[in-house]
Amino acid sequence: MTANESVLYPMSIDGEPAVSPVTIPVPDPATGAAFARVPQCTREQLDAAVAAAQRACASWSAQTAESRRGLAEAFIERVARETDPLAHLVTREQGKPLAKARSEINSAVFFARGYAAVRLVPEVLRDTPQQYVEVRRRPLGVVGAITAWNYPVLLAMWKIVPAVLAGNTVVLKPSPNTPVATMRLGQLAQEIFPRGVVNVVCGGNELGAWMTEHPGIRKIAFTGSAATGKRIMASASGNLKRLTLELGGNDAGIVLDDVDPGKIAPDLFWAKFSNCGQVCAALKRMYVHRSVFQAVCDELVKVAHKVKIGNGLEEGVDIGPIQNRAQFDLVRAAVEEAIRAGARVLYQSSVPAGPGWFLPVTILTDVTPSMRVVKEEVFGPVLTISPFDDDEQALRMANDSEYGLGGSVWTADPKRGAALAARLDSGGAWVNQHPAMGPEIPFGGVKGSGIGVELGRLGLEEYTSIQVLNVKRAS
Ligand code: NAD
Repeated sequence: MTANESVLYPMSIDGEPAVSPVTIPVPDPATGAAFARVPQCTREQLDAAVAAAQRACASWSAQTAESRRGLAEAFIERVARETDPLAHLVTREQGKPLAKARSEINSAVFFARGYAAVRLVPEVLRDTPQQYVEVRRRPLGVVGAITAWNYPVLLAMWKIVPAVLAGNTVVLKPSPNTPVATMRLGQLAQEIFPRGVVNVVCGGNELGAWMTEHPGIRKIAFTGSAATGKRIMASASGNLKRLTLELGGNDAGIVLDDVDPGKIAPDLFWAKFSNCGQVCAALKRMYVHRSVFQAVCDELVKVAHKVKIGNGLEEGVDIGPIQNRAQFDLVRAAVEEAIRAGARVLYQSSVPAGPGWFLPVTILTDVTPSMRVVKEEVFGPVLTISPFDDDEQALRMANDSEYGLGGSVWTADPKRGAALAARLDSGGAWVNQHPAMGPEIPFGGVKGSGIGVELGRLGLEEYTSIQVLNVKRAS
């Protein structure tokens, strides 16, 4: 046991650190060995967190938006000052290289500042001597936030900040795979907000289920898999909770015949392999016009050759391990199955010897639509490339998916790209980039990729309900 293993990161309930008799070890995916522990929240502790959030909501929701904004901004800047320690925790628990973990914290801060810049002003629909009508935005109450393990700090900030800006209070649960940095975020929140405004609990999937059925929670803001999203939708029906479901994706990228393969290859490569392929809106299926197919494959392989896989704490590492053992097994099995069924390996890198959960960068071609690597969201470093002969065929293949998070078209002619991208069945339709996000740009999927959006004014509005104020001035 190393010294670090004894470190226990407490939850934050009603402004106080909270531990529990049972703790969960948190492994470092680069070694497989536990480096920290977190409490496992009991049902009573969840009830206490929800009750604290309800109590806090009375005065928090009554504050002016400007006063809430002041504290939200103070929290964001507090997180910014904690970038290096938070990044270190993210690398230990998530596996991504330290520089990428720092980028995650920087992005979390950048996007949160974007939320803080939004002003939700009432919309006046009628203003006559007889009548005044305006649509107002009111807080919902207690928000239950549940996050995934690929970007723990970013996803938590995308939920805490809009929830509190809009006048709600929060009970947040990170993935049990990556809870540590989020427990630290919870502690930072206690330095800034009144007690009970931000509560951070920790536990496995059963804790998430308790939250989704909890009568004291008015909304679930969820990021995770489609399968869990469906379960949440069913169990949240008890008190008709509002839902934002940011689910998985199986994004396609269409590469047209007019591209310069050498020029776009690095962007295409990282559109898939960033964060070891564990990105909801990664470019997972690539369709390339037959006239440039071989050249695009060759250029992608050239980029892949330069990539270093290893422990994220080591200098010069580009891609870390897969975050958890179950995902490691799942991705490996999907690749082996595809190869047995006839897929051809265009490139497969070497990986550091264990004990960490390192997977090779793998580029496959000669794949069929029924293979899992094409049909399902494979959350790992595996890219499939298929040729096409005309744009309509490419569009059909791209849209042949249960998911609809993002999609992209790559071309020398942005106008042609925009026309084709607009016909993708996806929430994000990007040209010459994948994904493309910004603090004022709503992000969300269609079909099996979810309900609702995050970011920007539309994202903030998801944390409110509408009230119509209708005043009869004279008869
Ligand atoms: P997951 O669905 O297994 O878990 C996500 C969270 O839900 C965890 O905190 C988990 O404990 C909790 N949970 C599990 N069962 C639950 C239940 N029955 N009720 C309530 N909560 C429950 O997903 P994951 O494996 O952690 O994350 C990977 C998935 O997340 C991928 O599909 C990825 O595409 C998706 N994702 C989507 C976005 C987006 O914005 N669209 C962003 C990041 C990740």
